[in-house]
Formats: sequence, structure tokens, C-alpha cells
Amino acid sequence: MLCSLTMISLKPLPTNLNSSFHSLTPFKPFTPITQTLKPSKSHSYSAIQSVLQWNRKPELAGDTPRVVVITSGKGGVGKTTTTANVGLSLARLGFSVVAIDADVGLRNLDLLLGLENRVNYTLVEVMNGDCRLDQALVRDKRWSNFELLCISKPRSKLPLGFGGKALVWLVEALKTRPEGCPDFIIIDCPAGIDAGFITAITPANEAVLVTTPDITSLRDADRVTGLLECDGIRDIKMIVNRVRTDMIKGEDMMSVLDVQEMLGLALLGVIPEDSEVIRSTNRGYPLVLNKPPTLAGLAFEQAAWRLVEQDTMKAVMVEEEPKKRGFFSFFGG
Ligand code: ADP
Ligand code: MG
Repeated sequence: MLCSLTMISLKPLPTNLNSSFHSLTPFKPFTPITQTLKPSKSHSYSAIQSVLQWNRKPELAGDTPRVVVITSGKGGVGKTTTTANVGLSLARLGFSVVAIDADVGLRNLDLLLGLENRVNYTLVEVMNGDCRLDQALVRDKRWSNFELLCISKPRSKLPLGFGGKALVWLVEALKTRPEGCPDFIIIDCPAGIDAGFITAITPANEAVLVTTPDITSLRDADRVTGLLECDGIRDIKMIVNRVRTDMIKGEDMMSVLDVQEMLGLALLGVIPEDSEVIRSTNRGYPLVLNKPPTLAGLAFEQAAWRLVEQDTMKAVMVEEEPKKRGFFSFFGG
């Protein structure tokens, strides 16, 4: 928790290259600049705020709706956590958001958002003509400008012929709703690169690739980058999740710079490993709503900020300084 920190280091990471053309221009990652603050409890938060520019509302770049797919290739790297937290951060910033759980059969975005009891209909029923679209859209209890739509019921299989075209239809239907076109449509993509993945990426015009700094996740992320580009999605940004600075310092984990060099993608955010993420997952209460904010919560909010403005702000790595061990700690004092 933020208020319990003794010292916080803020490391502005490079504002990245024009992601739309990253494959056409040579990729040059920059060495992170370190800025260390020695905060008292009160000024630490304001210092973070000024670095993150939270004293102003972000300006929405690009045409609406921005259709963003959150993908990774590998499972369990944090796609659903990112969808929930970035989605709700966008809603808190005042943008209208529709989050689509495209993880057929193994959906869990509703659980993370604490909305599982409110999902009565899914997109499959809308397509079958069993209900209207607005009946399948579940409004968040806390932020009315955030809505969830699940593609299908848990453990069900998609009907034959259901594919990317259904999602393209959905995006068109959302655009022409009487309430107005949403600012963001965020799609939580299933793991793997089979039919579910293809369905999820079809309507998207930009992608956020979530990866952890380990070789298996990076390998899958690289493969997925190639597939996204083949599908015409050139605007790909990455979130490096579950970063542990203590392990990076001990050279037991790849640094964010290494990850950037390997994938050659624009950096949207760096999320630290934080036990609060697991706690909030189990409570069905997204991290970004926690008060006081947690380290990972701050990082997700910052990633949402950068998504809105299309990379105009410096990525900041928020880390907790390791607690100094006193002389008496040796004796368990
Ligand atoms: P995916 O959707 O890619 O399969 P999830 O978002 O469901 O991944 O996350 C998998 C697990 O990892 C969850 O238990 C989640 O709480 C945990 N997790 C994700 N990000 C972090 C983090 N930054 N720190 C700690 N645990 C995390
Ligand atoms: Mg998931």
C-alpha cells in the first residue's frame, strides 16, 4: 500500500516510437532514466501525481470507437486483469467503455469485475434473436459508463459459423445505439492462436499485447505480434506485467529494456508483481478502485492514460524500495 512506503523510485521509461510504423522503422529502445524521490507520506502521492500528469484530463486521440484487443498468446499473463483495470480506469477518466469477454467457455472477466450474477444474456443469444443487445450489456454497479458483454455462457461452445463477423456486426450495432457510440470497445482475447483468437482480433484496429518478462511468454508474444500484423493491426503496444525490480537487479529477470529490445513494440505500461492483484481478483473488486491506490493499480491507471493519448506521456515504473533491515532484525526483533 502506498502510504506504507518508505521511499518510492519513479523511473520514467522511454516514450516510444510511433507504434503504427514500428515494423517499418528500426527499433531503438532507450535506457530508462531514474528519478528517486524521498517522500514523506503526503508528498509522495502528489509527486507521483505530477509525474503521471493526473492534474489534467487526458485527450482522446483517434476516431471513436477505439476497438482495442487485449491479447498475449500465452495464458495466465494478465489479459483479463488488464482488461478489467484498464477498462475501469478509462471509465473513471470519463470515457464510455464496452468490455467484451471473448474468452469462450472459460470466461472470467465478469468475476474480476464482480458482475457474475448480473450476466443473464450473452452475444450468442443476441445473435440467435433470443434477446436484444441492450439486455446482454451489463452496466457496472460503480461506473455507469462501463458495460460488460460476454460472448457465451461458461463451458458452452460457440455455434458453428460464429466468428469474427459476429463481432464486426456487434461493433457496428454499438456504434448506432441510441445512447451513442462508445469511446472504447475493449476485447479480452482468449489464450492461444486458434479460432477464438482470430474471432477476438477481427474487429480490432489496435492491440495491447500483455507479456511477462519470461522467455516463454515473450516467444508467444512475438508470434502473436506477427499474426496481428498479418491481420492488418499495425498499432500494437505492450504491457509488461508482473515485473519484479529486485529480481531484475539480481539479474534473475529480464529488464523492461530487454523485453522492448526483443519485441520491438511501443511500451504502454509496466505493472509490478503485486499481491494486491490476487487479493482483488478473489474479491471481484478491480484493483484500480482500491483506496489508497496500490502500486499495480497506479501502473494500470497510467497505462490507461497513455492508451487514451496514444503514447504522448512517459511511462513510469513505480517501485517499492526494499525495506532496510535493522541490526535487531537479525535477532527477530
Ligand atoms: P489471463 O487472462 O492472461 O489468463 P489473468 O488476468 O487471469 O491472466 O491473470 C492470471 C493470474 O495472475 C491471476 O490469478 C491474477 O491475479 C494474477 N496476476 C496478474 N497480474 C498480476 C500482477 N501484476 N501481480 C500479481 N499477480 C498477478
Ligand atoms: Mg483471461
